[in-house]
Amino acid sequence: MPEGVEQEDPKQQAETARKAFEQEFERFARFRPDSESDGQASSGDVVSVETKLNAAEATLRELGEVRLRHTGKKSALASVKKLIGRVASEDRATFGQLVQQIEVEIVSRINEVEASLKSSIADLRTETGRIDVTLPGRRPRQGHLHPITIMRQKIEDIFVSLGYAIEDDREIETDFYNFTALNIPENHPARDPLDTFYTTEGFALRSQTSTVQIHAMQRRQAPLRMIAPGRVFRRDTPDATHNPMFYQVEGLCVDRNITMAHLKGTLTEFVHRLVGPETRTRFRPSYFPFTEPSAEVDYSCFKCNGAGCRICKQSGWIELGGSGMVHPNVLRVVGIDPEEYSGFAFGFGIDRMSALMYKLDDIRLLFENDVRFLEQFN
Ligand SMILES: [Zn+2]
Repeated sequence: MPEGVEQEDPKQQAETARKAFEQEFERFARFRPDSESDGQASSGDVVSVETKLNAAEATLRELGEVRLRHTGKKSALASVKKLIGRVASEDRATFGQLVQQIEVEIVSRINEVEASLKSSIADLRTETGRIDVTLPGRRPRQGHLHPITIMRQKIEDIFVSLGYAIEDDREIETDFYNFTALNIPENHPARDPLDTFYTTEGFALRSQTSTVQIHAMQRRQAPLRMIAPGRVFRRDTPDATHNPMFYQVEGLCVDRNITMAHLKGTLTEFVHRLVGPETRTRFRPSYFPFTEPSAEVDYSCFKCNGAGCRICKQSGWIELGGSGMVHPNVLRVVGIDPEEYSGFAFGFGIDRMSALMYKLDDIRLLFENDVRFLEQFN
């Protein structure tokens, strides 16, 4: 014990340590859970949540310093604890209890405020996450059109500019519209490749959008120019080039004196606008029950321009679809006189055109709804 220094009464020293703590701790009292202000700005205060959060975090740091100062190794309390062994043995137990009581009080009051502050900070952090205008926002992802829709719209734009109307109609049809009206009577072999899905009530999913042409001619009579894009169904096993459901566009032009020359001119103009002005067309004789004469239409490959490549399977030509002059029986069925009117019709698959244009190996990709695939057409 240093000489000349009057040793303070240990009990007094303990009380001094407690008082020093209480004095400093006073400013933290408002952060106690039962405190009215709860450590936050009162309602009506315009202090931002961000400011409150910063303040609460600073207070928590200060509280840590207070803990160190009043309970750490160099604290007054630590010094007082060392005195326990030095007080007279008869006073030791009482003194020890006093010191322990002070320590418990200091530690529990600090713990209480610390817990309350931490909970406020967690709440404030949640709140700032909700309303913080300084953080970069989450931009809503803009959608985009499906590759089939993109192709369908391109085709529609071309035909609308040529004076064609766009017709839409039902996907479930009667046998009459799907076959009979198209000059395909029952037991006709052409029903086979057009085989579709039937319901028990004599209805069927349409196997071509020609059904729309029948409806349109019945409704509007001649003259008319229309295209019918839409979904059709066939009993095909899915593979890289087939799907039991696919998109088709069919076109029809009925007027006086319509000839094969109009058909060739129209489809040639169409591929010029869709693929490019240098594209050539080729018509090969074919057979369809609803047209006479009938022709398959090819256009020169957009990739190799006829030289032969992987896309055109080395032929230099790509198949567009079928076409022909509307069969007189089809006109008769809808009440149009084939002696007065004639017309041409054509049809092609939108899926296959999309698959070609986008160089897809497998048309099934178009219907799998895999976002990783679809995003590429953004
Ligand atoms: Zn080619």
